[in-house]
Amino acid sequence: MKLYDSLTRQLRDFTPGNPPRVTVYGCGPTVYDLAHIGNFRTFVAYDLLHRHLRWRGFEVDFVVNLTDVDDKTIQGAAAAGLPLGEYTEPFVEAFLEDAATLGFLPFASHPRATAYIPEMVRLVEGLERGGHAYRGGDGSIYYGVASFSGYGRLSGKGGIESEGRSRIDAEALGKRDPRDFALWKLAGPDDEAVGAAWESPWGRGRPGWHLECSAMARSLVGETVDIHMGGEDLLFPHHENEIAQSEAATGRPLAHLWVHVRHLKVDAQKMSKSEGNFHTVRELVEEGYDPAAIRWALLGAHYRSELNFTSAGLDEATAALQRLLDFRRRVEELAVAEGAEGELADRSAELLGDFGRAMDDDLNVPRALAALWALVREGNTRLDREPTIGPGDRTALLAALAEMDGVLGVVELAAAARENAGAGKGRIQRLVEERDRARAARDFALADRIRGELAAEGIRLDDTPSGTRWRRVRVTAGHGPPRDGSKPVE
Ligand code: AMP
Ligand code: ZN
Repeated sequence: MKLYDSLTRQLRDFTPGNPPRVTVYGCGPTVYDLAHIGNFRTFVAYDLLHRHLRWRGFEVDFVVNLTDVDDKTIQGAAAAGLPLGEYTEPFVEAFLEDAATLGFLPFASHPRATAYIPEMVRLVEGLERGGHAYRGGDGSIYYGVASFSGYGRLSGKGGIESEGRSRIDAEALGKRDPRDFALWKLAGPDDEAVGAAWESPWGRGRPGWHLECSAMARSLVGETVDIHMGGEDLLFPHHENEIAQSEAATGRPLAHLWVHVRHLKVDAQKMSKSEGNFHTVRELVEEGYDPAAIRWALLGAHYRSELNFTSAGLDEATAALQRLLDFRRRVEELAVAEGAEGELADRSAELLGDFGRAMDDDLNVPRALAALWALVREGNTRLDREPTIGPGDRTALLAALAEMDGVLGVVELAAAARENAGAGKGRIQRLVEERDRARAARDFALADRIRGELAAEGIRLDDTPSGTRWRRVRVTAGHGPPRDGSKPVE
């Protein structure tokens, strides 16, 4: 299998350090608000790699961290007047729910940064002993970039920035070099107010964002992870700084391979709340989109190619899914005849081979989908010709489809969502009718109880002259600072 390695800027053969185990560390969401679909393009790519590696027989240890202490979570908690954990926990839950909605395999772990403070402190102590850390003029502990010769190798941005702004900022903070970054920040009033301050040898404070990932990766997957992933914006400074910290501390490479996912655009623009093109998974689901269609729309392009998210794209994904579901049902329901074996078993195996080779080639989803569609097309052509299918052909065809879907994770997800929607709608409809009968019998206590029960699930009833209608009302979240996909430079 080959993956594009951002560090060496080439496609590289992937060989895990300790097969059949593969360790992957993906930078996860900052839990100060709901993750948006841009974040989920990156996370769907994580899940795709996870599934593909599993299909190829690896035992995958996939860690995705939760950044629950940083400038944004602290600002959000302070503005809401809540302790940090109380503020971030609903966003942690929402992230895990959205991941389940999109059919993600469970992560091996999803560590919260706040649970690894002692490990972070130990890492800084090690860096200090090695001469890589110093106390800045503002009392914070900084990483001295000049002490690490490999700085800038990942991003190509190792040079001293000459821009005035960073120099002025650096002088104000008492940094030796504008490139130096905080490992440990001294606690300010907001940090103390929300409980984002911990004891340390350097005084009460909190970790810098980059340090968090270095410490969690080391604790959970060891000194060298097989694959380290993130969105393209994390190349610099986040991953460059992670490398500087981890490699200075251990003397070993932080990762064998660095994989970065290109940013999602929405309606050809950068997603932002002010542009009105800001979407979350749950909003799209509440608008009636199939989670499998959302997943499809996020994974249909190669992870390093541009991807523009539009409602037309979602509609196309919905139609594509329907075609796949129809095809599967057609094959399942077809009459089986012993004598009807043809070439479908062989073709299924060949096309499954093409699919696998495409995925082995740096997760080339467009090429893998071409194999999937060829299977559907050839299958349909053959079934149009003859109304029966041989048992071997049918088994092979359905198996190939299931294996492809095991990696893509869309068909089963769509089928499950349809079943749930059917079951859920039936129950809601039954409750609405029970309430109608209660109202007709003037049992208003029962009618109100049913209304209340449905309201608690986010379902609103409208009594109209032609009967009671129900609809899901949007549940809104997100009261933190605007999530525009950018990260403050810490
Ligand atoms: P954050 O919550 O900002 O820490 O980001 C979580 C993950 O989402 C990181 O891997 C980011 O690189 C990624 N990400 C942020 N915005 C986008 C976007 N528009 N498209 C794809 N990935 C993104
Ligand atoms: Zn990270």
